[in-house]
Amino acid sequence: MPKQHTAMYKELIDKLRYQKSLSKDEYLKLIKNREDISEYLFKNAREVCESIYGKDIYIRGLIEFTNYCKNDCLYCGIRRSNKEAQRYRLTQEEILSCAKQGYNLGFRTFVLQGGEDNFYTDEKMEKIIKSIKTKYPDCAITLSMGERSFESYQRLKIAGADRYLLRHETISKSHYEKIHPKQMNFENRIKCLQNLKKLGYQVGCGFMVGSPYQTEENLAEEMIFLKQFNPQMVGIGPFISHKDTPFKNEKSGNVELTLFMLGLIRLTLPNVLLPATTALGTMDLLGREKGIKAGANVLMPNLSPVTVRKKYMLYDNKICTGDESAECLECLKKRVGTTGRTIVVDRGDYKTN
Ligand code: SAH
Repeated sequence: MPKQHTAMYKELIDKLRYQKSLSKDEYLKLIKNREDISEYLFKNAREVCESIYGKDIYIRGLIEFTNYCKNDCLYCGIRRSNKEAQRYRLTQEEILSCAKQGYNLGFRTFVLQGGEDNFYTDEKMEKIIKSIKTKYPDCAITLSMGERSFESYQRLKIAGADRYLLRHETISKSHYEKIHPKQMNFENRIKCLQNLKKLGYQVGCGFMVGSPYQTEENLAEEMIFLKQFNPQMVGIGPFISHKDTPFKNEKSGNVELTLFMLGLIRLTLPNVLLPATTALGTMDLLGREKGIKAGANVLMPNLSPVTVRKKYMLYDNKICTGDESAECLECLKKRVGTTGRTIVVDRGDYKTN
């Protein structure tokens, strides 16, 4: 790229840092011309992140409590139609035992994630949430179990859930329809996010980078939506194909574009809690370290029992499915150390200042 162009795009990054937003066209320009400016973006994103969260990296203990799912998302390895998936459900006791192990390792947030599984009624979830909260009142509970009614979200909030992760997957309705079956509805997904916010959850939304049919323009639209929705958390990671899904032959998303999006998100929502995801670590051995250097400040290691880990295969070659939680954490501590940051024992709440 000619020098004067690089200078112009760097100025656009400066503008983003100070204004905390750009127009769709401006975001698109940066995305299209990211090659020579990504290091500059990452440096700014790191500075902004550290000015708010310091050197701290927050960890969330991920408990994948069920891989039964009534949905049939075309990209997802635990979709209903995947007859190859070996299905499992964790009992309340098993979930509590994951939490206990996690607590002893220094986790102060537990993320209960699963497919959309009607087995886990509101009553069952209330019991699970209350039992964790009673044992570990200093911990935050994040739920990530898909679309439910306003009333259901309300009951789970009253039972003690603090946060909810529901990736919207894409903000383009036409794109949404290309990667989901007809029975699923874009408007309902967005409505769910709004309901969660209304109920006082700390809300996380997000999308895959490089999912089939996604365009760079879609990614610029994501930035406009994020600015407007202003979530407390944003989960993004590269799409990775899964061999038993209709997208088995689709190209997987790319690490460098995911990192660039992390940087843009950090400058657009300076206080946001931003994980360097397992999918990023799967696509690149150093993906999570690179994510932290691009503006991420959260890691979500797996606390699920090792016996079920290989069954929660959203995509092929998922990492950390063979290790005990303690080993995973040790490995992550070393990895984070190389970035000059530190994993802390903390709930890691959203900072509003
Ligand atoms: N059922 C819950 C949790 C879904 S799994 C829900 O609906 O929110 C968590 C996330 O994994 C999804 O939101 C999706 O963005 C991501 N995911 C699913 N399949 C994937 C794939 N093939 N590659 C990368 N990420 C994937």
